[in-house]
Amino acid sequence: MSNKPQHIIVHHSITPRDLNSDITETSFNNTHKNRGFPASYFKGNTWHIGYHYVIFGDGEVRQYRAHKTVGAHCKEESMNFKSIGICLTGNFDVEYPSKAQVDALRDLVGFLREELSIPVKNIAPHRKYATYKSCWGKNLPDDPNELLDSNVEEKVKSAIEWCKEHLPEAEWDGVKEGEAERFRSLAKRMKTWFT
Ligand SMILES: [Zn+2]
Repeated sequence: MSNKPQHIIVHHSITPRDLNSDITETSFNNTHKNRGFPASYFKGNTWHIGYHYVIFGDGEVRQYRAHKTVGAHCKEESMNFKSIGICLTGNFDVEYPSKAQVDALRDLVGFLREELSIPVKNIAPHRKYATYKSCWGKNLPDDPNELLDSNVEEKVKSAIEWCKEHLPEAEWDGVKEGEAERFRSLAKRMKTWFT
C-alpha cells in the first residue's frame, strides 16, 4: 500500500517548542518506534517517526517519509493512506508556535499544495478527525488557513489596536458580536507573537 496524499494534517508535538532539534528528533524516533510505527527508509536513513515532516521551533523543516510512504499520524478515516502529516514542535494548548514556525508551515503547505494538487479545504488539524484530541492545540484555529493567511500579521496588529482602543483586555470575553468578536478572539489567541 502506498500513500496517495489528498489532505494535509497538522499536529503539535506536546513536547516543549524550543528544545534542541536533534534531541527532539531522537525522542520522537524512539517513542514512535516503541509504539510500533513502521520504519520508513528515507534518503539513507531509517526512521520510525510517523509524520512526513516536523517543523522545529526555529523554523527548520525536516522530512522523515517520502510523500508516497504511508504515515503513522492519523488513523481516523484512513488518513494515513491519503495525507501528509506535519508536526510542529510545541504544546499549543499552553504556548504558541514561533513566527518562524508559522512562516515555515506556510511555505511547506504552499509547496505541498502545488506539488500534490491538494485543495485548500483539505488542510486540517488532527482534531478534525481525532475529535477526542485537541491536537494541534487549543490556542490554534480549527482552520489552519486562518493562521497561514499571509496578511495575518497585519490583521492581528489591527485587531490588537482595535482592542486596545475599544475596551480593556479584562473585558474581551464580555462582548460577543460580529466582526468585533472575531477580531478579539484572533487577537487574544495570537497577541503573544506581535506585542
Ligand atoms: Zn496529532
